Amino acid sequence: MAVERTFVMIKPDGVQRGLIGEIIQRIERRGIKLVAMKFMNATDAILEAHYAEHIGKPFFAGLVEYIKSGPVVAMVWEGDNVIETIRTTMGKTKAHEAAPGTIRGDLALHISRNLVHGSDGAEAAAREIAIWFSEAEQISFTRNTDGWIHE
Ligand code: UDP
Ligand code: MG
Repeated sequence: MAVERTFVMIKPDGVQRGLIGEIIQRIERRGIKLVAMKFMNATDAILEAHYAEHIGKPFFAGLVEYIKSGPVVAMVWEGDNVIETIRTTMGKTKAHEAAPGTIRGDLALHISRNLVHGSDGAEAAAREIAIWFSEAEQISFTRNTDGWIHE
């Protein structure tokens, strides 16, 4: 397995519902390493880049309005196979189909209020991280516990 980085965002519903700690805890407790984080308002420019693949789709305007409706927590997480692991931890996009035990399966009900974003592949992860963070904002460090999390 390769060490990867992925972009995660706690969307405005997660912030408003007081679920920042709960969502971060679920990722953090798996052993995944936080390497960048900021609390911020998303802009049109950021969201048009971030959700470029969805421009023109019927839900796009509502999606941008939703993500701009309040502050978000933007993060970069690092670990072996972390892109897929975080998508699995989040659960399916359609929250009503998300398995119990996942963030969306335990805490969300609807696709349009599904609490979190996680990059869906290596290319998306690299692209999204560069939209939200500079190189200098990403921290490389070693944890004393790393040897207890992977070989
Ligand atoms: N979305 C929506 N309605 C739809 C499809 C998507 O509101 O019919 C929103 C939802 O917030 C979703 C985001 O657009 O998380 C991006 O959609 P995508 O299919 O990329 O899902 P994700 O990668 O977030 O799981
Ligand atoms: Mg997506």
